Amino acid sequence: MNKQGAFRGIVWFLVLLALIAFAYSFWVRSTSIDLYEYNFTKYQKDLAEGKINTVLIKQNEEIPTGMVSAITDDGGRHEFYASDINEIIRMAEEQNLLNQQMLSEGKRPVRDQDIVITLGDVSRQSTFSQMLPYVILLIIIMVFMFVMMMSMQGSGGGKMMDFGKSRAKMMVENDHDIDFTKVAGLQEEKQELEEIVDFLKDPGKYCKLGARIPKGVLLVGPPGTGKTLLAKAVSGEAKVPFLSISGSDFVEMFVGVGASRVRDLFAEAQRNAPCIVFIDEIDAVARKRGSGLGGGHDEREQTLNQLLVEMDGFGVNEGIIVMAATNRVDILDPAILRPGRFDRKVVVGRPDVKGREDILKVHTDNKPLGDDVDLHEIARTTSGFVGADLENLMNEAAILAAKNNRAYIQKPDVDQAFIKVGVGTEKKSRLVPEKTKRITAYHEAGHAILYHLLPDVGPVYAVSIIPTGEGAAGYTMRLPQNDNEFTTKGMMRQDIMVDFGGRIAEELIFEDITTGASQDIKVATQTARSMVTKYGMSEKLGLINYESSDEEEVFLGRDLGHAKSFSEETAVQIDSEVKRIMDECYAEARRILEEHIEILHRCAELLLERDRIDGKEFERLFGQNDGILGSI
Ligand code: ADP
Ligand code: MG
Ligand code: ZN
Repeated sequence: MNKQGAFRGIVWFLVLLALIAFAYSFWVRSTSIDLYEYNFTKYQKDLAEGKINTVLIKQNEEIPTGMVSAITDDGGRHEFYASDINEIIRMAEEQNLLNQQMLSEGKRPVRDQDIVITLGDVSRQSTFSQMLPYVILLIIIMVFMFVMMMSMQGSGGGKMMDFGKSRAKMMVENDHDIDFTKVAGLQEEKQELEEIVDFLKDPGKYCKLGARIPKGVLLVGPPGTGKTLLAKAVSGEAKVPFLSISGSDFVEMFVGVGASRVRDLFAEAQRNAPCIVFIDEIDAVARKRGSGLGGGHDEREQTLNQLLVEMDGFGVNEGIIVMAATNRVDILDPAILRPGRFDRKVVVGRPDVKGREDILKVHTDNKPLGDDVDLHEIARTTSGFVGADLENLMNEAAILAAKNNRAYIQKPDVDQAFIKVGVGTEKKSRLVPEKTKRITAYHEAGHAILYHLLPDVGPVYAVSIIPTGEGAAGYTMRLPQNDNEFTTKGMMRQDIMVDFGGRIAEELIFEDITTGASQDIKVATQTARSMVTKYGMSEKLGLINYESSDEEEVFLGRDLGHAKSFSEETAVQIDSEVKRIMDECYAEARRILEEHIEILHRCAELLLERDRIDGKEFERLFGQNDGILGSI
C-alpha cells in the first residue's frame, strides 16, 4: 500500500468508527425510552386518577432498585426506577382495594377494573452481550493496526524497518556509490582495510587457509576525519550491504530497548551476510561499565553486554564485519577490545598538507574553479582542518560564488569562506557605536601587532572589527600552525602575550578598560596553568603532573569524591607560579606594545577606515626596520 492507500485506510476506519458509535448510542437509547421523564410523583398522580391499568415490576440482582413500567389506558408505557418496590406495589393494591370498597358501597370508583400487578424477573443480560460492542470495536482496531503495519513495511522498500519495537533507526544501504576513490588521503588506512574488503568479496579463500579474519574494526579519530566515509567505502568496494546504526540510538528511555535493538541488528546482519555492520559513536554504549552518574547506566550496560554476546555469538568467518567509530577510545570498556571483538584498530588522523590537497580535489571535482584558486595553497593554509571542514569550506565558497553570480569559484570566495568557517558569519549590518568601534580597533590591533612581532606565533591572516555571529566584537585571525609541530614553552608564553595584547592596547589608549577581554584572560589563564600542572614548564614545581583530570571524571562520573593528588601547599605554589608567568608575559607584552605605539595607532586607524584588513595590508604598516624580535 502506498501513502495514498494508507490515507484511504484511515478514512475508511474513521467512517466505520462513526457508524459503530452511532449504532451503539442508538442501542443504548432504545433501552431507556423516557426513563427520566416519568417518575414516582407522576406515577402516584396517574394512579390516583385511575389512568394506570397495569404495573409491571422488573427486578433482579442487577437492578436491585427495581424498574417499574406503568402502562396507562391510552397505551402509554412509562418506565422509571423506584427505590422502594414494596411501596409501589402497596400503592397499587391500595388503589384496587379502594376501588372494590367503593364498588361495594355502590359509589362510583375511580377505576372499575383492578390494576394488574406483575412482578417479573428481568432476564439477566449476559456479560458477553454487554461487552460485544466493545469486543467488535477492539477487533476492528486491531485489524486496522495490522493492515497499517503491513503497509508501512511494504512502503519502505526494505530500507527502513520496524526496529527494536520502536522508531525505525537502522539503515540498510545497498547502493555502492561510495568506494575508496571517494576517500582522499588516508592511504595507509585504506590499505589496512583492503584485506577486509578482499575477505568480504570472497570469504571462502580465507576459510580454506584457516585464516581468522577480524570480526570487528574500530575506527578511531577526531570528528569529521572520514570514519563513516571509510566504513561506507569498505562496503562499497566489497559490494556488500551496509547496515548502520548510531550508538546513541541504542540508549533509549525504555529499559531493554537497547538490548533488543542489538539483537535485531545482528539478526538482520545474519540475513544479509556477507555485510558490514557499522555502529557510529560507539562510545555512547560501550563506555566503561560501572561508570556514569547513577541512573540510566544499567540500560547501557545491558546493551553493551548484549553487543558483546552477539559479537561472540557469530562464527569467525560468517562474513559479518562489525565496524565502529569513536573519537574517545580512552573511555571504551576494555572488554570491547578483546580478541574476537574489535581486535583491529584503525586510527584515522587529521590529514596533512598532501591529504588536505587530495580531499580538496575530491570535493572540487564537481565545482568549476577559477584560475586563481590554488588548491595546494589552500591546503597549506588550512592545517588542523579535517575532511568535513574542507568539504564545508569549499561548499561555502561555492555558495558565495553563486551569490556573487559568478560562473567559477574564485579566490575571494574561498577567502571569505575561510573567514566564515573560522569565525562565523560577519554581521556587517549590526550597528556599532563609534566609541565601541574605536576600542575594538585598538584591542584587535594589540593582538595583531604581537602576533606579528613575536617570533613563534602568527602570521596574521586578517584583522577585523566587524562583529561576528558568535558575538565577538571583532577578531584577529592567524594562519593555523603547521602540522605536527610541537608547542614549545616559548610559544605558549607568546600565546599568553598575544592574549593580553588586546587588553593592554585598551589600557594604553583609553582611561578605562572594558569587559571585552574576558575570553582572552580565560584562555591565557588556562595556558599558564597547564604549563605549570601538565607540561612541567615551571622549575619550581618540576616535572610532575598535577592535573586532577577533572574533565574526564565529570564525564565518566567515576570516583566522584576523588581528592586532589597534591597538598594545599602545592596548590598555593601552583597558583603563585601561574601568577608569575602571567605577570611576566604581561610586562613583556606591554613593553612591546609601548615601543610600537605608533603602529598601534596606525593599525587602529586603518581598521576604523576599512573594517577589515588582510595580512598583507597589515604587514605594510610595519616599516622595513621593524625586524622580528629575538626568541623569548
Ligand atoms: P566522521 O565519521 O569521522 O566524523 P565523516 O566520515 O562523517 O566523518 O566525514 C564527514 C564528511 O567529510 C564526509 O561526508 C566527506 O564529505 C568529508 N570527508 C571527511 N574525510 C574525507 C576524506 N578523507 N576524503 C573525502 N572527504 C572526506
Ligand atoms: Mg561519522
Ligand atoms: Zn581579544
